[in-house]
Amino acid sequence: MDITPIIDKLNTGLFINGQWRDAEGGKTIEVHNPATGELITTVADGSAADADEAIRAAGEAQAGWAATAPRERAEILRRAFELLIERADDIAAVMTAEMGKPFAESKGEVTYGAEFFRWFSEEAVRVGGDYTQSTDGKTRIMVSREPVGPCILITPWNFPLAMGTRKIGPAIAAGCTMVFKPAKLTPLTSLMLVDVLKEAGLPDGVLNVVTSDSARRVVTPWMESGIARKITFTGSTEVGIGLLKQAADSVMKTSMELGGNAPFVVCEDADLDKAVAGAVLAKMRNGGEACTAANRLFVHSSVAEEFSTKLAEKIGAMKVGNGLDEGTEVGPLVDQDSLDKVESLVNDAVSKGAKVLTGGKKRDGAGYFFDPTVITDVPKDSEIRTTEIFGPVAPIVTFDTDEEALALANETEYGLAGYLFSENIERALSLAEKLEVGMIGLNTGLVSNPAAPFGGVKMSGLGREGGRVGIDEFLEVKYVATPRS
Ligand code: NAP
Repeated sequence: MDITPIIDKLNTGLFINGQWRDAEGGKTIEVHNPATGELITTVADGSAADADEAIRAAGEAQAGWAATAPRERAEILRRAFELLIERADDIAAVMTAEMGKPFAESKGEVTYGAEFFRWFSEEAVRVGGDYTQSTDGKTRIMVSREPVGPCILITPWNFPLAMGTRKIGPAIAAGCTMVFKPAKLTPLTSLMLVDVLKEAGLPDGVLNVVTSDSARRVVTPWMESGIARKITFTGSTEVGIGLLKQAADSVMKTSMELGGNAPFVVCEDADLDKAVAGAVLAKMRNGGEACTAANRLFVHSSVAEEFSTKLAEKIGAMKVGNGLDEGTEVGPLVDQDSLDKVESLVNDAVSKGAKVLTGGKKRDGAGYFFDPTVITDVPKDSEIRTTEIFGPVAPIVTFDTDEEALALANETEYGLAGYLFSENIERALSLAEKLEVGMIGLNTGLVSNPAAPFGGVKMSGLGREGGRVGIDEFLEVKYVATPRS
């Protein structure tokens, strides 16, 4: 697939106060294709001064934007949803070129990401309040929910569209203005999203986008501006902790979608074919580069051999290649560091006694390819048992009792997603209640859904995105008291 005609039409500058423009000094950063190493194009390399201009634009637009009718905001989102669906092929092709995932998965992400706009277009007109009285009957209490104010949005490279729409959707619905910094590895999808929103009628200044080679150079001025009232971040726990500390200085509202280390538990009464299909999805979606990816597979010892063999057959047969080539099921990792990390985790486990059922190696030649891998007998002291893998590797460990499965599953500082497979619903729900995670796939390998509250516990984050509660992260509660006679 040749994406040159799409790239030639792309706006690659900064988007501030409704205008595209170059970065200060005309500086740019290169964007490469991880499947080939080739240069795709360059985008603006925003400076601190550019960032400052962006947050001021968001600050100035806030009052006017908050005063718009909810229906108007809803209809902008609805139009943007429709435009995203219309342009799904182009956006997906660019996403695959910059991030690596197979074209079909990129298209799936466009649909998933667009759904956040549809969902929040429906939520925008349903922000309710309360009218009540004090317990002694002497005071009227009128409660309203108002936009929190200008927001800082920071997204990672692994879902370059959906991580943006999951934040921009509720911010628009609530009436908040934004400054947005996409990941430097995958800025092109986000810039296509900006075009869509401009065309859908988003007023100038509501969304301001600054791409940059240095996240800190752009985000620190925003954090210290005194203008931003909220930060919503998706990325690593390490960076999230740093931002939480910075947010404390101005008592800024925060939402943090951080790292995961999802357990995938297969009980002896599971439907094994269903469990294998679930594991393929939970492990291999996005090539394993997902915060919800099954990171540690715990399988009852009585079914472990059958499960592992079937999983290795399925995963080992997946076609690895350039995501733009037809039939590709697994693309490259996003960069050299990611490839080195996955290789080192597998080598460490194998050196300590793990057995490779399939894969286990990186591929020679261009691109950051690692063979889809299943390893068993993974020792407790292997780094892979505690580290977020972010690659196509499924490490399997056995257990004998439910208590043991729970102890293994909860033995991590993370708590984003978890997966459980059992045909005994009472047992499954009892285990689900005891898993220390924010989301559970029960007999399914997929939890992401715009209508569901996405988020984690422990060091996986704070707050929820999507679902009925997603808009609350962008609203403040205010009440008016008045005497009642
Ligand atoms: P990352 O290194 O934390 O980067 C995430 C974003 O933060 C990028 O835009 C990055 O910019 C920016 N950033 C980096 N350092 C910063 C700093 N000091 N101040 C402000 N911003 C900074 O994470 P990643 O490697 O891109 O993404 C993978 C991680 O995201 C994994 O841990 C994964 O689990 C997590 N994730 C979580 C969820 C969720 O919903 N819980 C969803 C997806 C991913 P640059 O990239 O331009 O440097």
